[in-house]
Parts: sequence; C-alpha cells; structure tokens
Amino acid sequence: MINVPKGTKDILPSESYKWQFIEQTARDVAKAFNVSEIRTPTFEHTEVFSRGVGESTDIVNKEMYTFNDKGGRSITLKPEGTAGVARAFVENGLVSSALPVKVYYLTQCFRYERPQAGRLREFHQFGIEMLGSNAPNIDAETILLAKTLLDKLGVTGYTLYINSIGCKECRAKYHAALKEYLSENLDKLCNLCKDRYVKNPMRILDCKNPDCKEITKGAPKILDYICDDCKNHFEKVKSLLTIAGVPFEVDAGIVRGLDYYTKTVFEFVSNNIGAQGTICGGGRYDGLISQLGGADVPGVGFALGIERLLLLMENIGVDIPNFNKVKLYLAPMGDSESEKAFELATALRTQGIICEFDHMNRGIKAQFKYADKIGAKFVGVIGSSELEKGVIKLKEMATGIETEVAFNDLIEFAVNN
Ligand code: ATP
Ligand code: MG
Repeated sequence: MINVPKGTKDILPSESYKWQFIEQTARDVAKAFNVSEIRTPTFEHTEVFSRGVGESTDIVNKEMYTFNDKGGRSITLKPEGTAGVARAFVENGLVSSALPVKVYYLTQCFRYERPQAGRLREFHQFGIEMLGSNAPNIDAETILLAKTLLDKLGVTGYTLYINSIGCKECRAKYHAALKEYLSENLDKLCNLCKDRYVKNPMRILDCKNPDCKEITKGAPKILDYICDDCKNHFEKVKSLLTIAGVPFEVDAGIVRGLDYYTKTVFEFVSNNIGAQGTICGGGRYDGLISQLGGADVPGVGFALGIERLLLLMENIGVDIPNFNKVKLYLAPMGDSESEKAFELATALRTQGIICEFDHMNRGIKAQFKYADKIGAKFVGVIGSSELEKGVIKLKEMATGIETEVAFNDLIEFAVNN
C-alpha cells in the first residue's frame, strides 16, 4: 500500500461537506464586503516568496518546497497567499484599476514543517487582501470580515489580539532600543534569532524557543516607540472596532511572520485546539507591493487556516450542516421498475434534486438499509402495482409516514418537501 506523504491528508467524501460549508460561507461573507475572488498559480518563481515574504521569516528560512524545474528555474510551491497576490497586482497593473482592490482566495499552501495537530505540510487558507488604501477603516473592515465569518460559522471562544508595529521610521527607533536590550543576552539567543538580531530584531519576539521567550520577557514595547501618525492610525482602528462591537485585546507581543508588515497586526487565537492556537493572522503591509517592484501601494489582509478552523469547530461542537444529503432514494423492485427509476431520477436531477437509486441490484430490504445509511430523506418504492398505477410509494425515513405520489407530481413533491 502506498501512503500519503507525511503532513498531507485526504479529505474524504464523508468530510468534504464540512469544507464546502466553510468555503461557501467564506465566499458569501467576502461577497457582502464587496471582495472578489483571485486565483493565482500554485507555484511561483522562488523570488516572489524570498522577496515577498522576507528573508528573515521561518517560511523562507526553512519551510519552503523549492525545486529546480526541468528548465532549471527555481520554483516554489506557495507557502502562503499574499506574495502571489501582490505579484499578480504588480504584473497585471491593477494599480490603475479602481482602488482599493479587494480580493479573497481559497488555496492550498505548502510548508515543510513538523506535522502535528493543526500543523500540516499541505494545508488550506482563506485569505483577504485589500490593496491601495491607507485608511484605518480598511484595517477595521479586514478584521471585521474575519470576525463576521467566525460568527456566521458559529465559532466562539477565541480572542482577537491586535497591535501596531509602526512604520519604517518608528520601527528603526524601536529596533535600536530592542537591540540594545538584547545585546547583553545575544549569545543565549537561538541561532535563528542571532540572525534575526541582524536582519529584523522584532521577529525575535515571535520566536517559540523557550530561552528566547524568557529573554524577551522584559523587552521594550513597540507601542511606546511608534510615531504620532502610526499612533493615530492605531487609535482609529481600535475605535472603529469598538463601534463595530468587536471585542479585542492589545498585545504588544503580536509581531507576525512577514517582514513587510507595518502598523496594524492581529491574530485570532483559540485555547480550544492545543498548541497551534492561531486560527487567523494578518495585518497591514505597506512595503510589500514596492518590495515586489510595484508602486508604493499600501495593503492589509489576513489568512485563516481552514484545518485549524475545522478543528476548533469540531472541538467546540459546532453542528456543520450537510447540504449534500440525498432527498429521495428510489427503490425499484424489478427490471422494468428499475428503468422507471432511472427515468424519474434523471428528471429529478435535471431539476437539481439530490436523488439516488439502486445500482447494486439489492433486494428491497437491503435498499432501505442503504437509503438509511446515506441519510436519504425519503425512500420511494416502485413495485409492479405502482408501475401499473403510475405512482410511487414514498416513505419519510425520520417519521415513517407514507404517501403515494403520481410519477407526474414527483418533482413538485420533492421541491416542496
Ligand atoms: P504559526 O505560528 O502557527 O506557525 P504562522 O504565523 O506561520 O503560524 P501564517 O503564515 O500567518 O501562520 O498563516 C496564517 C494561518 O494559516 C495560521 O494562523 C494558521 O491558521 C494557518 N497555518 C499556518 N501554517 C500552517 C500549517 N503548517 N498547517 C496548518 N495551518 C497552518
Ligand atoms: Mg509558521
């Protein structure tokens, strides 16, 4: 037997309705916020991520699936969605379309990580990118979109943490203060953080190594260093969230993974799914588009991990509706009845009614058992006398109530029940 590669998963037919429900809800919420779908390739030139995610990130440092294709180009499977969207924005000249450009994506992502609960090598994200606006109301709107989706899905028991990590100017001042603070313990930091100390010291605050965590405990806080412009922006985001009735906590420890984040950063975190508690993370990235060779265009967005979301929904007992259940199972009792069932099923399906009939030549008892197993709402028996009379004997499985319906009225019955 050949197994799936480590860190990947099959989504089986018995589970896929949950994914469809989450994806459809995400699409509906995005639509209400006037956000359109964007689909970018599964792989990009490696440079898109090394420049667009940043050299000091875990993703670029150790998690990318990078290989040379047969033409000798360095190719990387997308580890996240933002860089590809930013590349597409620049390449397609979307800067000259009506701004802001508001897009969402549903995509798989690939990261070479140690698999564990809520951490896979192939996983899925729902993400939003709002490009072209500096206004704090678009930061608030982005956060609100994520919150609306969680509400619509019936997800509770999470906390929204927000922070501001300032702009290039105030970050430089903060980095200087942070470096000074860390300089005494530089030799105790992990190797990755030693590198971050040079490239992007703030990222040390996001390190999961316990020694690094201990060292950064008393570190200076970015919010004490941000400039007036960044402070006002942050205050406005907070007040808009309050107006929208979105509870949040300010947490100076939220710094996010990408190198080009600026100002607002946020995470939705749950305590119900173990160590990998961050379901959704995002923020403003005013430097990204120019980093990828585009104009100086600001942006804000988030990515939400669908596996973690599903884990949370299951752990807190959210009942995910299955809209794919069979409405009507047709149970023919012989050859000519089977032909009739085929004809009726075709007519029902043409009307979009989910319908099934016997493909296994089962006896009537076994057909009922099968219909029960697949959760069919009605079973319609067609025996020789029904065939003669032009009717079908319907049984509602949940109640046991039986009704006779003429073949000609079957579609109408199925639509109304
Ligand atoms: P973490 O700190 O858990 O590694 P991250 O900062 O790397 O997360 P992002 O790059 O912000 O995560 O990705 C956004 C979301 O995608 C995460 O909040 C999470 O829900 C999900 N995610 C990230 N990596 C994985 C993974 N390997 N497997 C499953 N979901 C993931
Ligand atoms: Mg990670």
